[in-house]
Amino acid sequence: MLTLTTTHKPATDLGFLLHKNPARMHTAELSFGAAHLFYSETNEERCTAALMLEIDPIRLVRGQTTSGEGGLFGQYVNDRPYVASSFVSAAMAEFFGTAMGGRSKERPELADTEIPLEVHISVIAVRGGETFLQELFTPLGYEIETYRLPLQEKFPEWGDGHYFALTLRKTTRIKEFLNHLYVLIPVLDDGKHYFVGKAEIEKLLHRAGDWLPTHPLKDEITSRYLRRQKVLTREALARLAEDSGDTDPDETEIGHDIEERMVERVLSLHDIRLNQVVEELKKSGAERMLDLGCGEGRLIQLLLKEKQFQEVAGMDVSLSVLQRAERRLHFDTMSEKMKERVRLLHGSLVYRDRRLAGYDAAAIVEVIEHLDEARLAALERMVFEFAKPRTVIVTTPNSEYNVLFATLPSGTMRHKDHRFEWTRAQFSEWAARVAATHGYTVTTSGIGPEDETHGAPSQMGVFVRSTHG
Ligand code: SAH
Repeated sequence: MLTLTTTHKPATDLGFLLHKNPARMHTAELSFGAAHLFYSETNEERCTAALMLEIDPIRLVRGQTTSGEGGLFGQYVNDRPYVASSFVSAAMAEFFGTAMGGRSKERPELADTEIPLEVHISVIAVRGGETFLQELFTPLGYEIETYRLPLQEKFPEWGDGHYFALTLRKTTRIKEFLNHLYVLIPVLDDGKHYFVGKAEIEKLLHRAGDWLPTHPLKDEITSRYLRRQKVLTREALARLAEDSGDTDPDETEIGHDIEERMVERVLSLHDIRLNQVVEELKKSGAERMLDLGCGEGRLIQLLLKEKQFQEVAGMDVSLSVLQRAERRLHFDTMSEKMKERVRLLHGSLVYRDRRLAGYDAAAIVEVIEHLDEARLAALERMVFEFAKPRTVIVTTPNSEYNVLFATLPSGTMRHKDHRFEWTRAQFSEWAARVAATHGYTVTTSGIGPEDETHGAPSQMGVFVRSTHG
């Protein structure tokens, strides 16, 4: 939880600055859980907005594109739900996008005025300790108050942890205040919950272009922000040096509004992937859709937003993920009309299943790599020989890209449950063979930002049936 307070009078103007009505509770469903914004205090003297995140550790593991520290155990048991991290920045972008852009419809002159602001973060992990904290915020003119939280009160001999309660105060414009936090919270924490690619450089330049170039810790901040990816860091530092001092906020305003939404929403590799699959399916003209190995139904959710898809059936072998899909899709409160459009099927893709016949298209997103060779052969027949929709879209990781994931030890795969991960050549070869065997043509392409040498992080094959039968 993080609270933002002002003592500017009338303090209730904070609601206008943040573009969030103090009388209401605001909730957003983000990829990692729910974020809530509410006001814990509203009067003329003092107004406090509280940002609270409810992070779902299971979702973190499922959405994961890189394996975290500490192996499988570390993936489920970690500090992420309890500390302020890049999730907070994502929630800030969601709730405070307008304020961070320096705009306020009702109080434009106040948005441009320096007012007393204070943020309190109840727990934040600080890599580099108190010294680093001081070195980060002092040059920016903050008054800092920290309290190092004991690792375990019962066992003082375990020493200190790296968790702090933190209060920062400064009289400044709301935009500047929020942008400092947005960039520096993940820097303190030294981690990011999502895939970091080139788009992240744009975000850094946008949020920090006017203060980072003169910050004494410019290099360290940039490196941490870009998850210590050397190539990206070098490029960002070069561009920070170029742009230094002359960014015109007005000129780029509109572009940034769009960028904000794009970057926050699309940044996770999985979101990029799902959006690309939806685009392909739209192009295919399909109306009746299958999502095979649908997991918790994220693709289904996107498909249902498009009128073109009159019917969507998701299938998965795991009952528990299907239950999660029911919740995500709000089965309990769904309208009759929607109920007719969507169906969840429990079943395995390696057995012939009559329920899957007669659909226009099938998506198989990040599923094949979970199957061993014999099962994959069975899936091929099941999909391309028996169900045989006109269009089939298959996605799978591109193993060549793994070397670029900073946290992935070399030679390992992205998920513990993956049976294989293919290079671009291996995938193309498989796709070509499957297509030729079953009377389809196929085109393969990359998903996500393309690296010159290693290609894109994920890959997709679009199969179109060329013969009838
Ligand atoms: N397509 C989803 C989920 C990918 S994870 C997404 O992109 O978010 C892989 C999914 O495949 C899991 O939900 C798993 O339960 C499912 N799966 C694995 N083997 C399967 C099989 N033999 N039949 C059906 N589903 C299977």
